[in-house]
Amino acid sequence: ATDRTPTASDVSARTPPYSKLLRRLHEVRRILSPSRKLTLAEKILFSHLDNPEESLLEGTDNGANIRSQATLKLKPDRVAMQDASAQMALLQFMSCGMPTTAVPASIHCDHMIVGERGADTDLPNSIKGNKEVYDFLESAGKRYGIEFWPPGAGIIHQTVLENYAAPGLMMLGTDSHTPNAGGLGAIAIGVGGADAVDALVDAPWELKAPKIRGARLEGKLSGWASPKDVILALAGKLTVRGGTGYITEYFGPGLESLSCTGMATICNMGAEVGATTSIFPYTPNSHSPYLQATHRGSIAEQASAIAASPGPHNLLAADSGCEYDDLVTINLSELEPHINGPFTPDLSTPLSAFKSAVEKNEWPATFGAGLIGSCTNSSYADMTRAESLVQQASAAGLKPKADFFITPGSEQIRATVERDGTLGTFTEAGGLVLANACGPCIGQWSRTDGVRKGEANAIFTSYNRNFPARNDGNSKTMNFLASPELVTAMSYSGRTDFNPITDSLSTPDGKEFRFQPPSGIDLPSKGFEVGNPLFQPSPPVPNATVSVAIDPSSDRLAVLEPFEPFPQGELQGLKVLVKVKGQCTTDTISAAGPWLKYKGHLPNISENTLIGAISADTGAVNTVTDVDGKSYTIPDLASKWKSEGQPWLVVAEHNYGEGSAREHAALQPRYLGGKIILTKSFARIHETNLKKQGVVPLTFVNEADYDKMNGCDEVSTEGLYDVLQGGDGDITVVVKKKDSGETHRIPVKHTMSKDQRAFILAGSALNVLAQKSKG
Ligand code: SF4
Repeated sequence: ATDRTPTASDVSARTPPYSKLLRRLHEVRRILSPSRKLTLAEKILFSHLDNPEESLLEGTDNGANIRSQATLKLKPDRVAMQDASAQMALLQFMSCGMPTTAVPASIHCDHMIVGERGADTDLPNSIKGNKEVYDFLESAGKRYGIEFWPPGAGIIHQTVLENYAAPGLMMLGTDSHTPNAGGLGAIAIGVGGADAVDALVDAPWELKAPKIRGARLEGKLSGWASPKDVILALAGKLTVRGGTGYITEYFGPGLESLSCTGMATICNMGAEVGATTSIFPYTPNSHSPYLQATHRGSIAEQASAIAASPGPHNLLAADSGCEYDDLVTINLSELEPHINGPFTPDLSTPLSAFKSAVEKNEWPATFGAGLIGSCTNSSYADMTRAESLVQQASAAGLKPKADFFITPGSEQIRATVERDGTLGTFTEAGGLVLANACGPCIGQWSRTDGVRKGEANAIFTSYNRNFPARNDGNSKTMNFLASPELVTAMSYSGRTDFNPITDSLSTPDGKEFRFQPPSGIDLPSKGFEVGNPLFQPSPPVPNATVSVAIDPSSDRLAVLEPFEPFPQGELQGLKVLVKVKGQCTTDTISAAGPWLKYKGHLPNISENTLIGAISADTGAVNTVTDVDGKSYTIPDLASKWKSEGQPWLVVAEHNYGEGSAREHAALQPRYLGGKIILTKSFARIHETNLKKQGVVPLTFVNEADYDKMNGCDEVSTEGLYDVLQGGDGDITVVVKKKDSGETHRIPVKHTMSKDQRAFILAGSALNVLAQKSKG
């Protein structure tokens, strides 16, 4: 490997196509009327439309009602994929038969690295354990010209911020914290692998036009308050569902006191309120120095020139007087540090009230570990502010009472803080530096402190998520989220009720010690270090002679076979596999945990299909009966029917497929022979995923008809084939009862667009793309 400090041609390939975007923005203004005021998010989104006229005028009362109404068909500039989700994304991409990706893309090996004894031992162990997956990802990267960042290089969002994010860029990432790049003025959206494939093959990617929430920042951060506290406080106000269907767009005079990386932290955790994404406008004082420091001065120059142009032509700021669907205001001067949790990121408590919250809720009075870093909070400012506190405590002779872990977000940041002595300050105080990877943030944490599974305990982290079992696989571990500086100071007390602003600690020589507010440096005065040259990415040059490494005997990776097209005519002779009772999330349909290992192997991961579902017939989880009355697990019966050529459907209740965008929840039923999912209602993203994989999602016209169906009933359709071919008639599901032979005619509805009907007829969206790419 060589020192791959970005060259001029790398930077040029990573620069958003500004001339094209500005031309498109001009066209959008013409279509919508030149006097129409646009938000920043709308400007960037609309300048990435494939066909602005179609997207903005169809179904929107001629452009009057775009938000929540228009279906935007977008052409993103770039795709980033993390190692766990990249596997299925790449397998799907490969089945399209293209020689290279249509847009630049990158792969980041971060999620599968365990944190245990420190980077030096953990990293080689994880590389060994995941070798076949890394070999696959690396060889696919080389073959298709996708930059491959090897294990140890860093966490996807930090690496993207340092290398790819840019003002005005639009990117998709196969990870929910992709919006981190919004801190550098990009529209960056987290998606599933099938959506990423749309961008990789140059097919327009569809997004229902989001509403826009304005977040006005006033005042100036000071003392203990940090950018993390902005989003911790906002999560408390909005709750975990409050951002759904919205983009959060920050503006106001408070921007001037925020660093670029601080803005990234705020956008990162926008995912915790369910926002489509979050974005900051280009702020020359913050963004230009960061772009320069990360070798992208030419992007800063172009962005500054665009930002200086008159309002309508300024792609990088909202039009003055634009309208927001909702507005929140935060005064940074009055902002207190917050602590969020346990178990949900919207349970937000100001630091001054935390002690009484600990007592009232009977949370543990002590905690065992403080963890700083991750993709959310490992900037130079974060690390040096934490260091300033460690220096104060060390000078007073104090050591952390809780175990103290540091997870650098990238090799660049790790090498830089090592050079500047910050890491040394942490390790001398007893801190343990983990690999530049997700580790304890995603359940890859082998704790060595003796806390047993099921034992209630507390930890403090500067991460972003705190669902049960998120960190150490123990659902009783209470994860409190806070800024890195607060986590650091509190680790010296080891008590959850310690307030470092007002409380003192005793030093070994019996004196009283109180922390002074943290202080840090936004950017390193000596510049960023490149670090270990082995952690640099492969060049983005496709090489058709590289064969993609998939061992046919692998149990973790399997080539995807194309799904068969829809039969010519109505569906006949389907059987109800399971009538699901109650809530059915994507986790119910495709469980995570140990199954994550099989994300690249559809046959193996399909063995978990619907194992969390309750059968309305048997009343039991994952227990159904075949026609002869014999009992099976749901995936076992599905496999048996697949081998017998027996097609099937699922019947379910409301909001089927809620939760994540996990595409495996659509792929698996499809692989096992599922043809229809018939419900009272769907979660929107999952419904789209089903259509993309060629499964027909239908809903009852009369919800009460759910009661007329049971497992093993025989089902055929009427009117479906005509609708798939473009008809607008009614669809009926004809149900022949298994026991009585009685017949019910059940009217059903669909939401399939023209494109989606084509996906289903072809067998999947991928089949359509593959046909197109073959010309
Ligand atoms: Fe996701 Fe945590 Fe990794 Fe960030 S550090 S990408 S939140 S798993």
